Amino acid sequence: MKRSEVGELAEQLTSFISSDASEMVAPFLVKENIKLTITKKRKTKIGDYRPPHGKVAYHRVSINGDLNPYMFLLVLLHEFAHLNVWNQYKRNVKPHGLEWKKEYKQLYHQYTSCFPEDIQLVIEKHLSNLKATTCNDSFLTKHLMHMDIKDEIQLLNELVPGDNFEADGRMFQMIKKRRTRFLCQEITSKKNYLVAGSAVVNRLNK
Ligand SMILES: [Zn+2]
Repeated sequence: MKRSEVGELAEQLTSFISSDASEMVAPFLVKENIKLTITKKRKTKIGDYRPPHGKVAYHRVSINGDLNPYMFLLVLLHEFAHLNVWNQYKRNVKPHGLEWKKEYKQLYHQYTSCFPEDIQLVIEKHLSNLKATTCNDSFLTKHLMHMDIKDEIQLLNELVPGDNFEADGRMFQMIKKRRTRFLCQEITSKKNYLVAGSAVVNRLNK
């Protein structure tokens, strides 16, 4: 492992996470050959993992750069858990199945001290009852994502049927919940869409 590469990465990461966490994340990125992309705010997801594929010999993790340091770290651990599962099982297990849950918990235990105690409580509650079926976990989005952001942002799953909302500059009406997602209709085109409950939306006053 190239010492300078790790040091440089760790320094860059301190813009997003604590220096303690950076010192742990940077060697992992280098050792596992991960290309980390920090994106601007995305409304539909906060992070993702893509395994090596074809000519792309490295793992790819992307993460939204607008997350607070704890959420940023936790989303990284979520994606690193996908990587650990990929290394062991490839596509033979479910994306957020038992193997992933085990890896996620193990990673969290390595990083526990990087989180303040009150946040540890929230995370531990979440880990003891992991229902995440997508990379967008609405529990965490709600409790951690906006801790340091003043303005009120709503999640789609906080709206009631009939509420109008704006997302990506378009207006929708939430019709009803369907399994894990919500049936929504775009107001101008009358087209229907299924949207994750964890999508961040602006509710419109009627
Ligand atoms: Zn995931």
